[in-house]
Amino acid sequence: KIHLENVVKTFESFQAVKGVSLDIESGELVALLGPSGSGKTTILRMVAGLEYADGGAIHFGDQDATDIPVRDRGVGFVFQHYALFPHMTVADNIAFGMKVSKVKRDRAAIDNRVTDLLRLVRLEGLGDRFPAQISGGQRQRVALARALSVDPKVLLLDEPFGALDANVRRDLRRWLREIHSELGITTLFVTHDQEEALDLADRVVILKDGQIVQQGTPQEVCRDPKSAFVMKFLGDAN
Ligand code: ATP
Repeated sequence: KIHLENVVKTFESFQAVKGVSLDIESGELVALLGPSGSGKTTILRMVAGLEYADGGAIHFGDQDATDIPVRDRGVGFVFQHYALFPHMTVADNIAFGMKVSKVKRDRAAIDNRVTDLLRLVRLEGLGDRFPAQISGGQRQRVALARALSVDPKVLLLDEPFGALDANVRRDLRRWLREIHSELGITTLFVTHDQEEALDLADRVVILKDGQIVQQGTPQEVCRDPKSAFVMKFLGDAN
């Protein structure tokens, strides 16, 4: 379980996150939803340990996150711009994280794991291609396989399907749901797309100007929007 308690982040004089408290249960798929600039990415980066909170606290289980070095947090990331290494094959991209990980695996173990991951993300047979030789949606699936390769406890996804067209996004959503129910991995997902959040998440957390304005299951927030902002924001999906 991840617990955020009154987390604050200020950039120079600008407060990007203004006292956010949030619990993410083990195995849950939570969407952080809000317009551009509402602080979603900043929250994700603090959970990842790429950015420090300057107020409040973040706990992983009963441990204060500041006591856990980034590489020991057990988080995997996928960002919108799938920074795959262009000069490496799909298989080598997936294997990369395992090669630099503290957990040492021999060549055969890495190869086996790459094969399993290619199957998991439904890209069997494409291991020898280069990123330029597969589609954008397939590249995002490679990025997810790479994130999963080191058995993260938590998966952090920042607009992972943002750059793709609507049909591909829809397919990837269905696919991410399947992967999530297969692996049951705690997932925090950032999006500004209402439809995506409502479709995908167990729970939706709606942000505005660095604060949580409402959270609940997709049904709850749709049935009972607590403010004109939420109503309008969710309504824009239709
Ligand atoms: P988007 O969907 O556009 O990425 P977001 O909801 O993820 O938006 P953040 O990226 O978390 O929002 O940014 C929140 C605010 O903090 C924005 O106004 C942004 O300009 C500001 N901000 C983020 N990172 C920095 C930084 N390193 N230095 C200064 N300001 C920053």
